[in-house]
Amino acid sequence: MTYVDDSHGSGVLGRSGRGTIDHFGLHGRVDFGMGCLSKAIGVMGGYVAGSKTVYEWLSHRARPVLFSTSLPPAAVGAITEAITMLMESTEYTDKLWENAKYWKSKIGSLGFDTGHSETPITPVIIGDEAKTMEFSRKLLENGVFVSGIVFPTVPRGTGRVRCMVTAEHTKEQLDRAAAVFEKVGKEMNILK
Ligand SMILES: *Cc1c(COP(=O)(O)O)cnc(C)c1O
Repeated sequence: MTYVDDSHGSGVLGRSGRGTIDHFGLHGRVDFGMGCLSKAIGVMGGYVAGSKTVYEWLSHRARPVLFSTSLPPAAVGAITEAITMLMESTEYTDKLWENAKYWKSKIGSLGFDTGHSETPITPVIIGDEAKTMEFSRKLLENGVFVSGIVFPTVPRGTGRVRCMVTAEHTKEQLDRAAAVFEKVGKEMNILK
């Protein structure tokens, strides 16, 4: 069986954020899809979408479902609204991609290593674990919150800060954040 974990794809890739299966035109060729509702959707929880048989099997056998409390109605309301908003307009995904492209080109042209991400999540690879965490701390001291991600989440020696550009960011905010990246990058000799 084939399944797609779309934790990073739902609400981002495909038409109006329909996800990775839509992005690659694989409708009908994947047995089931799953994703989390805590990223682009902005709430919490997750979903599995597939055949009735898969649904029945998971609802009786999947331990995380059997031993968890259901989502609170307020969370379900917010999730439903977020998905409705995505279905009504491409405004959010268009703005997200526009901001992401702007940020990637801006931060790349400063000379940072942004890896090979093809989604709005933009890593800035620093390398050394301690240096990565110090970079993240200094960004925050200058008003920019970007979490450091190090081993064991990523391979040793490839520590990075993971930039999350959203549809809500303005160009001014992205410019201000890039200026802080440049300042801290120079102070720490990450940029020449
Ligand atoms: C974020 C993520 C999760 C966790 O989802 P939460 O809803 O935040 O607990 C699980 N799997 C993958 C691949 C993820 O990216």
